Amino acid sequence: MSSRANDENGDEANEPVTLLRTPISLDYDYSAGQSASLFLRAIAEGKLLGQRCPVDGRVYFPSRGACPQHGVTFGDEVVELPDKGTIVTFSIVRVPAESIPLELPYVTVNVLLDGADTILMHVLDAKLEDVHMGMRVQAVWKPKAEWTTSTGNIIYFQPIDEPDADYDSYKEHI
Ligand SMILES: [Zn+2]
Repeated sequence: MSSRANDENGDEANEPVTLLRTPISLDYDYSAGQSASLFLRAIAEGKLLGQRCPVDGRVYFPSRGACPQHGVTFGDEVVELPDKGTIVTFSIVRVPAESIPLELPYVTVNVLLDGADTILMHVLDAKLEDVHMGMRVQAVWKPKAEWTTSTGNIIYFQPIDEPDADYDSYKEHI
């Protein structure tokens, strides 16, 4: 109950409580829904599916099933995208995360896949001093036997030997 220090400094029952540790957790099931299910089932086969807005033709990836700008649903039409794209922006991360297999510091990137009109956040395996906007990159996938209905099938992106993309081709996504 009382430590020697508390005996010397008074009854701890009279001390204000300044810290209360309450470890808690919640388990819940998440229903992906129609559009995300399309996307997740495809990525289990190594395919990257987006959906096209019927109003202006922009391709959303990943798709939420409806256009946030025009308020229309996308239906069943899908657009298969390549696993190559362009770095739009990036950040250098110096804080560890259990789900990221890269050593610190590593780079998070916003990638505009070729043919997509929305960006994908992921990580990049490259030398920090080499990373720049407009850099061309490609996904590195887990071995096929390990693919599941998860974006984790892509381990990270890495630079490829292609000329940088023109600034005009990605500037609206910065
Ligand atoms: Zn739209």
